[in-house]
Amino acid sequence: GDGGNVKVVVRVRKFLQRELDKNSPCLVHMDPVSQRTRLSPPDIDHGDSNSRSRQHEEKNFIFDHSFWSHRESDPHYAHQRDVYASFGEEFLDHNFDGYHTCIFAYGQTGSGKSYTMMGTPDQPGLIPRTCQGLFERIEGEQNSSITYGVHVSYFEIYNEHVKDLFTPKTNPPTYLKIRESKTDGVYVQNLTDEPVKSFEDIERLMRIGDMNRTTASTKMNDTSSRSHAVFTLTLKQIQHDITTDSTIERLARMRLVDLAGSERAVRTEATGQRLREGANINQSLTTLGRVIAALADPKRQRAIRAAGSQNSCKRRIEVVPYRDSVLTWLLKDSLGGNSKTAMVACISPADYEETLSTLRYADQAKRIRTKAHVNQDAVS
Ligand code: ADP
Ligand code: MG
Repeated sequence: GDGGNVKVVVRVRKFLQRELDKNSPCLVHMDPVSQRTRLSPPDIDHGDSNSRSRQHEEKNFIFDHSFWSHRESDPHYAHQRDVYASFGEEFLDHNFDGYHTCIFAYGQTGSGKSYTMMGTPDQPGLIPRTCQGLFERIEGEQNSSITYGVHVSYFEIYNEHVKDLFTPKTNPPTYLKIRESKTDGVYVQNLTDEPVKSFEDIERLMRIGDMNRTTASTKMNDTSSRSHAVFTLTLKQIQHDITTDSTIERLARMRLVDLAGSERAVRTEATGQRLREGANINQSLTTLGRVIAALADPKRQRAIRAAGSQNSCKRRIEVVPYRDSVLTWLLKDSLGGNSKTAMVACISPADYEETLSTLRYADQAKRIRTKAHVNQDAVS
């Protein structure tokens, strides 16, 4: 196995019109050398430290990378291609080596999660760049003894229900069941898993998927999604060795996850239907928080190390509550299991409370260790 910590990066976006209209100050500062992210209190420029609440202090964090996407004219501005080059490409290397990977975007609504994961037609994000990179490598491969197979699936979790984003909406909606098996792990039953031959095939599917996503307007962001979207690429490599007449099969799965907004439901002043959705999404994200907290707990990590030599200790290690939400159950392997995993914490430049909560969440995720191994089988 290959044990490693979850890679955690943070990205701050530019001001949106509503922030410019309010003349909001930028509370986030990043040092491109040390990768330090600093969050300053909203009233720092106004002196009078006595009136500042104890919670409103300057906070410092260090992550694997701090992406400054706030002002394009700055020399250390991080473009979409910089984000991909910094760890998207590396994760694709892992996939070709036979490892499962997962990249998930966390943050409040409007912080840049979808921009980072999917992006726009002009500014494609991690998902299209990963797909493009995948096919560039396959097409550039000179070794004729390897054959490749790529499949793609796309589903969303909305109100704790799983919906296939490649099938048209139905009335009433069709929800898919989650299953767990010894051989396949946790999976979505009857989920469309499309074979694709080119980047253009995937682009066409992505457009269909995004059209099928559930969106509801909330006060915070009109086009924001209240759902978690999970895009999955599966790469199968079959290598035939002529000299030994043996065949090796490698299977890597890459999950690219755009989480629902992390803000509390009350924050959006949602009512009725929206409030219930918000409450459910909160439950899913709360469980994700509890899973991360359990996995990051130093006591638990010590107990696991001790149990490595003494089987009897295993029973005393607290159970991670993966099964308490659809999201965490499906991402079980990606969180603390057989996967190389990265989290992109997306933050707004002008919201102290939400940004602090996201940075703390991300800080905790740094301590999670996964146990990725190459998924390889000799088939003959
Ligand atoms: P979320 O998915 O977290 O709700 P979005 O990705 O939709 O947030 O981003 C909110 C708005 O900010 C969108 O209009 C998006 O285009 C813009 N935006 C986000 N991040 C960036 C960035 N790094 N550079 C430019 N615009 C951005
Ligand atoms: Mg979004």
